[in-house]
Amino acid sequence: MSAIDGLPPLREVIATHDLRAKKQLGQNFLLDLNLTSKIARQAGDLSGSDVLEIGPGPGGLTRGLLAEGARHVLAIEKDARALPALAEIAAAYPGRLTVIHGDALDIDPLAHLTPPIRIAANLPYNVGTELLIRWLTPAEWPPFWETLTLMFQREVAERIVAQPGSKAYGRLAVLAQWRSDAKIVMSLPPEAFVPAPKVHSAVVQLTALPAPRFPADAEILSRVVAAAFNQRRKMLRSALKGLHPDIEGKLNAAGIAPTARAEEIGLEAFCALARSLA
Ligand code: SAM
Repeated sequence: MSAIDGLPPLREVIATHDLRAKKQLGQNFLLDLNLTSKIARQAGDLSGSDVLEIGPGPGGLTRGLLAEGARHVLAIEKDARALPALAEIAAAYPGRLTVIHGDALDIDPLAHLTPPIRIAANLPYNVGTELLIRWLTPAEWPPFWETLTLMFQREVAERIVAQPGSKAYGRLAVLAQWRSDAKIVMSLPPEAFVPAPKVHSAVVQLTALPAPRFPADAEILSRVVAAAFNQRRKMLRSALKGLHPDIEGKLNAAGIAPTARAEEIGLEAFCALARSLA
């Protein structure tokens, strides 16, 4: 029995339900419940919040979130093999865990959640990045969530918090920092996971700002930064030429030298450019 909840240890859960990790689902499980509780605590005070968890797997982080007092957890898992293990957790926390079987990229969770809502996940990085972009770029702000507590490969986490002028600075940094406070709150070595991935991981905590730092249309800003960083070594007048017939004029209007490169441009200037292209 585990100290945090009286349920069996995760190694036993995995053996009982034959949850051998599948590479194609990006499965690297966290088995240490002290660690998953620590990650859950990074998400803030959960007692008054619903938590959306994507990819609960055998339920290590789910159990951390519930043990840390989450009012309600909605967990979306693609792998049907994990459902019996998650049902055991739901039985131990009556009325506090709802599990949906499906692909998080296809499911709208909002019908099952009551604000305030926090999001926590340890996901394969490609799914995590795609969801992060969606959560950061709705047309209206503030979004449905208050905080995101997300595990990424360390290198992706660094891209989220990167500053202009660095190699890691790009689309993720601009979109994340435009509308949220983003910081790395934990670093984890490969051995924290079973099986151990090749790379280090980190937990990023994003807190939604009440309003974006600078006005801009989310869709236009997304298009501008995608184009600018797609060809990051080119001058902006050529990287962005597909966006407007007079892109030099638009860059000048936004106070950006047409010969500058994307990684030199800060958030405020990207937003000014998005406004001049609107
Ligand atoms: N949260 C667990 C933990 O920390 O031990 C599992 C983490 S494992 C890295 C990623 C989990 O996400 C797996 O359980 C996998 O089946 C699930 N998953 C992968 N793609 C998914 C998707 N598109 N929608 C929902 N779950 C997904």
